[in-house]
Amino acid sequence: MSVKFEISFAKSVRLNGGLAILLKDTESDLPVGADSADPANVFAKASRIVRFTGKGLTTLDMVAPEGSPVDRVIVIGTGKAKELSAHDWLKLGGSAASKIRNVEKVSIFVDVPGIDSPAKAAADFALGMLLRAYSFDTYKTKKGDDEDKNNGQKPVKVTIVTADHSAAKKLFADSEAIADGVVLARDLVNEPPNVLGPVEFAAKAKELEKLGVEVEILTEREMRRLNMGALLGVAQGSVRPPRLVIMQWKGGKAKDKPVAFIGKGVVFDTGGISIKPAAGMEDMKGDMGGAAAVTGLMHTLAARGAKVNAIGVIGLVENMPDGNAQRPGDIVTSMSGQTIEVINTDAEGRLVLCDALWYTNDRFKPQFMINLATLTGAILVALGNLHAGLFCNDDKLASELTAAGLVTYERLWRMPLGKDYDKMIDSKFADMKNTGGRHAGSITAAQFLKRFVQDTPWAHLDIAGTAMGSIQDEINQSWGSGFGVRLLDELVRANYES
Ligand code: MN
Ligand code: ZN
Repeated sequence: MSVKFEISFAKSVRLNGGLAILLKDTESDLPVGADSADPANVFAKASRIVRFTGKGLTTLDMVAPEGSPVDRVIVIGTGKAKELSAHDWLKLGGSAASKIRNVEKVSIFVDVPGIDSPAKAAADFALGMLLRAYSFDTYKTKKGDDEDKNNGQKPVKVTIVTADHSAAKKLFADSEAIADGVVLARDLVNEPPNVLGPVEFAAKAKELEKLGVEVEILTEREMRRLNMGALLGVAQGSVRPPRLVIMQWKGGKAKDKPVAFIGKGVVFDTGGISIKPAAGMEDMKGDMGGAAAVTGLMHTLAARGAKVNAIGVIGLVENMPDGNAQRPGDIVTSMSGQTIEVINTDAEGRLVLCDALWYTNDRFKPQFMINLATLTGAILVALGNLHAGLFCNDDKLASELTAAGLVTYERLWRMPLGKDYDKMIDSKFADMKNTGGRHAGSITAAQFLKRFVQDTPWAHLDIAGTAMGSIQDEINQSWGSGFGVRLLDELVRANYES
């Protein structure tokens, strides 16, 4: 499915052909908009015949009878409308989007009685549609038989009918900024690794300048001058040079300390000399999911004009085995001056992040730092695809993040940190080693990062289970999910805008 929607909002609509989508909750008899959609009231009869009660996300799909002002009618059940969360509205929109095929125009009636904020519901519904409509088909040269006939030609005109249409339209401007950020992150994760190397990724980030983001790109030479020995050690086995990208969005007051987001951007992770097994290695094109989320987030914050000063820093490298690759046993010196014994070259993400974190803290003195990384397979063992691991040295930040996770359904589960775990990465030969062994693998990875953040409030999100290959649902059918963009946008929106 690849459909583009052109969404507008209206108080009412004159139906004249096309598809009408109506919502029905379990409390009311008729679907919303049913009267205007069809005076003959065939819906009530059809509902009775198939026992359609309006349970959440069930659908009733009907060809409209002769004389009806539309060609086709789909009723989507909402369940108990009063209990719908923001995420439920997203799912309803996603469900509606999945039904829209081979039509040019659609009218959607969303005003279910009894809900608190119809405008917000309508905007969330529309966001769900945009998220569902995404599909990554850049490299498919043949269209499948079930491909929408409208595909690539012209967008489907969608009118969302709601009483408070001007408020909905205003809110939807933000929804579009969010959807665009998620789409950017998904695209970056889905792109094949031969196409998206560190240089190409940096060029993508540079495009954010169009939105008013200041973008700097550090090359290998500049990183060498900054003594980023940990990041550069990972990169040295690849013929593709590394990049560090710094994005600044200055939407807040000049005196406001910035908030900072740091992303792991390993464009491909073979494991290096500690090479990974062949099975599933292709998925390691997604090992830049953290950097993708940070880039998508910066897009969203700028596109919606967020009143915050935000920094995005992404470390872009490729981890390859090579005659010049780093070896197990190597000792590298990080920008912080701390030395690291490389035990396993596949534990490379933390080596990239430690220099990126130190650099960000040192240069920007942010209010907080949040890093995102597809860091450990161990987080999948612990939490599966349903929660990202949250490691945090600050209870306030942890609870704000957890709350944002519940609102966006990009859920986090807090994991422990502590001195005893920290000991597990002490090294015989250097200040620390880059793995603490198999047990508590996600935690010792976090302890490693913690050694580079000093007293700054900091959170590490291990998104190895949620950024890619996560469970497909109403609002995401893509391998690269864009996890983190909506979460962190919500965190900023709820707590950090002036
Ligand atoms: Mn690795
Ligand atoms: Zn990795």
